[in-house]
Amino acid sequence: MEETVSGRSEQEFQDLLRRLELALETSQIGVWQHSLNQEEILWDLQMHKLYQTGGTDRKVSSAVWLNALHPDDVERAIAEFEAATAEKGFYNSQFRIILPEGEIRYLRSRAHFYEGPDGEPSFIGAEWDVTADVLLNRELTNQKAVAEARAIALEQSRARIEHAADHDYLTGLPNRRYFDRRLAELRADPAVKTLAVLHIDLDCFKQINDKWGHAAGDVTLQNAAVRISGSITAKDMVARIGGDEFVVVLVDIDGADDLKTIAEDILWRLRRDIRFHHEMLPVGASIGAAWSVVGEAGNLLAESDIALYQAKKSGRNRVEFFTPKLQSDLQAERQLAEELRLALIRHEIVPYYQIQVDARSRRIVGLEALARWWHPEKGLLAPAAFLKVAEEYGLTAEIDAAILNRVLFDRANWAMQGLTPPRIAVNISGSRLADPNLIERLQALNIPPHTITFELIETIFLDDPDDKTLANIDAIKQMGIEIEIDDFGSGHASLIGLVKLKPKRLKIDRQLVTAITVSDEQRRLVGSIVEIARALSVEVIAEGVETEDHARLLARAGCDGLQGYAIGYPSPGNEIAVLLTSVQRPDQHPASGNSQGNAGPTGFAGRQSAHS
Ligand code: C2E
Ligand code: CA
Ligand code: CA
Repeated sequence: MEETVSGRSEQEFQDLLRRLELALETSQIGVWQHSLNQEEILWDLQMHKLYQTGGTDRKVSSAVWLNALHPDDVERAIAEFEAATAEKGFYNSQFRIILPEGEIRYLRSRAHFYEGPDGEPSFIGAEWDVTADVLLNRELTNQKAVAEARAIALEQSRARIEHAADHDYLTGLPNRRYFDRRLAELRADPAVKTLAVLHIDLDCFKQINDKWGHAAGDVTLQNAAVRISGSITAKDMVARIGGDEFVVVLVDIDGADDLKTIAEDILWRLRRDIRFHHEMLPVGASIGAAWSVVGEAGNLLAESDIALYQAKKSGRNRVEFFTPKLQSDLQAERQLAEELRLALIRHEIVPYYQIQVDARSRRIVGLEALARWWHPEKGLLAPAAFLKVAEEYGLTAEIDAAILNRVLFDRANWAMQGLTPPRIAVNISGSRLADPNLIERLQALNIPPHTITFELIETIFLDDPDDKTLANIDAIKQMGIEIEIDDFGSGHASLIGLVKLKPKRLKIDRQLVTAITVSDEQRRLVGSIVEIARALSVEVIAEGVETEDHARLLARAGCDGLQGYAIGYPSPGNEIAVLLTSVQRPDQHPASGNSQGNAGPTGFAGRQSAHS
């Protein structure tokens, strides 16, 4: 058996070749040889198949390869081959070819440099189709890109949702949620030394909304947001936490003075009118401020809120600082309101009565019921001690109702005793007058006509009463209840209001009355009010008649009735019953002695007791 150079037998060599051919055929790998000097290329059959040449020639021209190359890949493929040639090294390339039918395939080509038997530089290489791999890869890449794009979009919408959850859509400012979180973070931050909170409430927001509409309201809020943001630094934060409420948290403020400066700057900025189309909207703000060293901090937001409440109570358009006293006052006020609620249930709110007399005859013509509170601990309280709180906590209407009920009860009682009670005036607040159920409630009381008078003390709205109120007033008159305007001349009730309202009588304010003994001008003023009232067929009662001098001058000025300490102090119902008995049924009055009574024309002698 012939031995080969490598020591293998011919038989073994043939076996090896066959195995190699089988491997190449099943793997569809083409083999090529390129001897550089001769520009000669040898292809096996698989190469022809890959390029779909249709030929079988072992020798092919390099043009076959070059022509098949995709125009976009030609340059690179040649360059890579030249590089491998220069290095006499390893060739590794991938390129596209265009098949005769026009189809594009991707081929991978690898080759080794070697020197032929004559030392001729050559490459032997293998080439196979990787189109499927490339397409698969491309598909994967696409899918990855799609997935990535989706992830980005998802992240963006998550961020948007997060932003929306943390911000106010209208002003773009952080909202309450974000503010609470930030405040908590700042309080936990060891680098932060002091924290301050400003609680800002726009003064005229409701009016702007009512008068110019919601678009104007929106513009106001947006403007306010920008203005407030303009007076704080980057480390501070402003948030909108309610309709027209903003809060600012300020980091490391040096002290109350600095805080005041910033708060006043904000106030100043918010005081400028806001342009809305061709209108200038008047705004303003109330600010509550609270300040503390971190660690000692109480609830800054609650404290600034208390200060804000105070700022609004003291007339708005100002800055107030939180103090522990404010807090205790507020607590006391809340407690009083609570007690007042109970008092209404327990019937501790009762009327005292002050008599009104005819200015000439001095006979009793009426009574005014004035609310008093029999407080279980503090004793008898006048309205000054509880009406303001009642107003703030929405209890005035209930007080009015309680007084009216008790007045009707007292009145019925007196009638049962055989007395003829004069008309009784009760005070009625604006909130009660605006109550849509007022008329129904009054009807349920079966008030005898021409026995009860309502004194309207909220003179402000009489200037411009709304339709609902005017309708209520009309219905009240229909029920035989007379209307009086209280505190006339104290500055609010106008003549127009007087004409519109057509009250039965008006009561000249105490302040005007007091001055008539000293000033001619005041006397003339009272005289003119009487004249105007006459012209409108409205009766006049003067209140605050404190001396006999007053009484005489007022009678001379033409007042119909008089009410005041000189005539009688407000007194409890039982004392009034005694007084009425002494005047109307002197025979039954133990103190009267003789049948005609000696109480004089007024029906009583001197001042009444129980001044409270
Ligand atoms: P008002 O309606 O103007 O009542 C007259 C007030 O002047 C009463 O004060 C009365 O005690 C006081 N007064 C009477 N004569 C004189 C006088 O000669 N000199 C002085 N200096 N004062 C005199 P009072 O009882 O403290 O009531 C204060 C206010 O509280 C009332 O003023 C009224 O506005 C309000 N008020 C009283 N009762 C009620 C009520 O049942 N409902 C409502 N909504 N308000 C009431
Ligand atoms: Ca009154
Ligand atoms: Ca009055």
